Amino acid sequence: MTDAAMTSPGAGATLPLVFDEPRGRKRPPRHLADLTPEDRRAAVEGLGLPAYRATQLSTHYFGRLVDDPAEMTDVPLALRQDLVREMLPPLLTPVRDVECDDGTTRKTLWRLFDGTLVESVLMRYPGRVTMCVSSQAGCGMACPFCATGQGGLQRNLSAAEIVEQVVAGARALSRGEIAGGPGRISNVVFMGMGEPMANYRAVMGAVRRLTDPSPHGLGMSARGITVSTIGLVPRIDQLAGEGLPVTLALSLHAPDDDLRDELVPINTRWRVREAVEAAWRYADRTRRRVSIEYALIKDINDQAWRADLLADVLTSYGDWGWVHVNLIPLNPTPGSKWTASRPEDEREFVRRLEARGVPTTVRDTRGREIDGACGQLAATGA
Ligand code: SAH
Repeated sequence: MTDAAMTSPGAGATLPLVFDEPRGRKRPPRHLADLTPEDRRAAVEGLGLPAYRATQLSTHYFGRLVDDPAEMTDVPLALRQDLVREMLPPLLTPVRDVECDDGTTRKTLWRLFDGTLVESVLMRYPGRVTMCVSSQAGCGMACPFCATGQGGLQRNLSAAEIVEQVVAGARALSRGEIAGGPGRISNVVFMGMGEPMANYRAVMGAVRRLTDPSPHGLGMSARGITVSTIGLVPRIDQLAGEGLPVTLALSLHAPDDDLRDELVPINTRWRVREAVEAAWRYADRTRRRVSIEYALIKDINDQAWRADLLADVLTSYGDWGWVHVNLIPLNPTPGSKWTASRPEDEREFVRRLEARGVPTTVRDTRGREIDGACGQLAATGA
């Protein structure tokens, strides 16, 4: 047994990995944001209305962030209610908002149509606003240090349930509800609850809606979107073939298989080398620099020799700037014996990576006092 297993909160009781959502779950109602522009026209025609009503509705939803029929004055009153009921059903109900960082970080707990809970976080920085979204209710990947991983997978979110998290943030910003005045979302990171690559279709649908030009989508730059994955290798390759220059983040957390088997159980399926190689292929094909996520856990994965080993692994694929490392100070989950690294160990870890020419950043710890990271709000409930 490795040192990680001995101190893991669930040591000995390994959770099974879950790729498929439980059967028999009711699907969320169909929503405009689930559909491609062509399918929207077909859906509107299916309601007995002319196809251009779909574009009008898209302009309201994506272009103006409106979902209240009263504001859709270019649509005859008699049609508005029907169109909105059929195409813009409410998907997310806010349960709780928590703010910190002087109102520039806002975390929201949402209830979905079937009662499941998910969370999203809006983070405003000078010059950019990042929305962190959930792609699944719960997660089947069972990483022992992650709050979401402890509860298992409830279900996949639909594309529209993902898009709605971003639209809700965009509305709050445009209405001036976030400190700093009215603004726009510039970045979306799939770093909320869930493993986005295990809900590939819906996540790609959401990415298309976010990046499609207005009025068909929100018109965001794909470069501002980061898909973070535990390393489902076939999906990383599939993503590389989409022709969408989104940023890929690989959650590595250990440079050696012994430890990664404990921290990231999927490692028993795709080893460190396979995951890193897939990330390298992604960078090679898309020319986008990938990000290696590494949660620094005191005395577990933060030893100087592991920094050296991480540098060995990454630089073995060349040093053309294909990768950078993003260190995340561990946000301890309730009941866990694990904690964040000592400052001097963190500094040494950074120093060793940088000495080997690996660009390294340490993630800021936004939202920590509001359980801002990783499923903690949903885990504690409303
Ligand atoms: N399933 C995706 C997204 C997870 S959340 C993935 O694995 O990449 C985004 C990042 O936060 C991941 O790197 C995840 O491992 C990390 N993370 C989860 N719980 C954490 C915690 N308690 N402290 C620090 N980082 C954590």
